[in-house]
Amino acid sequence: MYVHWHRRDLRLADNRGLAAAADRGPVVPVFVFDDAVLEHASPIRIAGLLSGLAALRERYRERGSDLVTLAGDPRELLPGLADDLGAEGVGWNDDYSGLAAERDASVRAALEGAGLEAESHRDAVFHGPGSITPNQGQFYSVYSYFWKKWRDREKADPVEAPAASDLADVSGEALPSAADLGFPEPEAEPPTVRPEAAREQLARFVDGPIHRYDEDRDYPGRAGTSRLSVHLKWGTIGIREVYAATVEALEGADDEAEREAIEEFQAQLAWREFYAHVLHFNPETVREDFNEYEEGIEWREGPEELSAWKRGETGYPVVDAGMRQLRREGYVHNRVRMIVASFLTKDLLIDWREGYDWYRRKLADHETANDVGGWQWAASTGTDAQPYFRIFNPMTQGERYDPDAAYVREYVPELADVPTDAIHSWHELSVRRRRELAPEYPDPIVDHVDRREEALETFKRARGEG
Ligand SMILES: Cc1cc2nc3c(=O)[nH]c(=O)nc-3n(C[C@H](O)[C@H](O)[C@H](O)COP(=O)(O)OP(=O)(O)OC[C@H]3O[C@@H](n4cnc5c(N)ncnc54)[C@H](O)[C@@H]3O)c2cc1C
Repeated sequence: MYVHWHRRDLRLADNRGLAAAADRGPVVPVFVFDDAVLEHASPIRIAGLLSGLAALRERYRERGSDLVTLAGDPRELLPGLADDLGAEGVGWNDDYSGLAAERDASVRAALEGAGLEAESHRDAVFHGPGSITPNQGQFYSVYSYFWKKWRDREKADPVEAPAASDLADVSGEALPSAADLGFPEPEAEPPTVRPEAAREQLARFVDGPIHRYDEDRDYPGRAGTSRLSVHLKWGTIGIREVYAATVEALEGADDEAEREAIEEFQAQLAWREFYAHVLHFNPETVREDFNEYEEGIEWREGPEELSAWKRGETGYPVVDAGMRQLRREGYVHNRVRMIVASFLTKDLLIDWREGYDWYRRKLADHETANDVGGWQWAASTGTDAQPYFRIFNPMTQGERYDPDAAYVREYVPELADVPTDAIHSWHELSVRRRRELAPEYPDPIVDHVDRREEALETFKRARGEG
């Protein structure tokens, strides 16, 4: 008998740790509601987790087994469970944040101290930290070099789900509700975190949008991206299954343009692994700048501006649409994540950690590595970050990537009937004209041109050049 400890791998198919446990089986699948992890959770992520656990439990029950759930400290609970069952050991899949690494090391020590086996597996990524390295150092800080190596390495195939005969005949207790765990309902619509939903989403994507991904991915008004992030976050789909679908799409591609589009999508999967490597070797970058400026950046306090940004009431239409998409759906389109993050850190000169904390609370797909990586990129403090002098203009970004303002109109109803050119030039209109067109929609809270200059000065001072 072997215990498989599920964490962010809420599926049976293409699960390497679970498959390894099945070889030693029968497997007892377990999930631990760990107080130390719940402390960092948010209502939207708890909703995602409970949705994923309910689906996982159904799959086990269909196979005559069940998901055992425990609540408390895994260092005490897991050795106790394995001992009670007479299991040989406990296995799990690796996770890459500092907190996860510390927890896993202490669980391993507790298991081994009790004379039990502890086995961890690489599952969430193809190539684990330390496996793609520059000549000197443990990780790449320039993505393009990482990508070339990542792309050329052989990729593992998906693994089979365990058969019913590989699973132990156990029964679990009812899952707790969000309220039982001390969380309110989320503000956004809760995500459907189920393997069937992930597979449907993948099939929809590789059937069509992937063939135009390199062009469409930047336009928030088009359904041009995979929307797999919440599933990759919770592991309701395996990365090998996603990649295998891209290889099949490549084989069926009609021309070079389609092949390039598909490869561009694979390159995003590599960004995810790039950031996992960076975080693994630099766990402190959850709070600290990866690249510290000599003199330090003088961030502003700006509580009112921060609050307007969170509410989506900055008077910059594409920024407000993004911030309202976040509250409505727990998701923001990637191009818009970059625009709103640039607006916070450059136009408002507010510390990226404020933005990261808000995303961490509100995003259904929050992944520490990607979220920290994205924020530090936008703030020009990260690995391979946006240079400090390249500051997004929120109006021209909106005009370029949401040309017919369909995305803005979807999330900012006050602008629904405003002509497109007025939406894209909102900052230039007279106050009277703005009142006529959309009396409920705010004036811009800052002047981008002035703020851009101030940001440049601030970053130059931070570099010791001011
Ligand atoms: C400030 C900021 C914060 C972000 N926070 C998160 C986060 O918490 N969780 C998260 O998964 N992504 C985050 N991203 C990256 C990216 O915005 C999302 O992964 C993407 O929008 C998810 O939509 P999708 O699944 O349709 O992406 P697709 O374009 O279909 O990409 C497929 C997958 O590749 C990965 N990916 C894509 N872009 C990136 C990227 N730039 N960095 C790392 N991985 C990427 C994701 O797993 C994504 O699901 C952030 C980006 C920025 C700029």
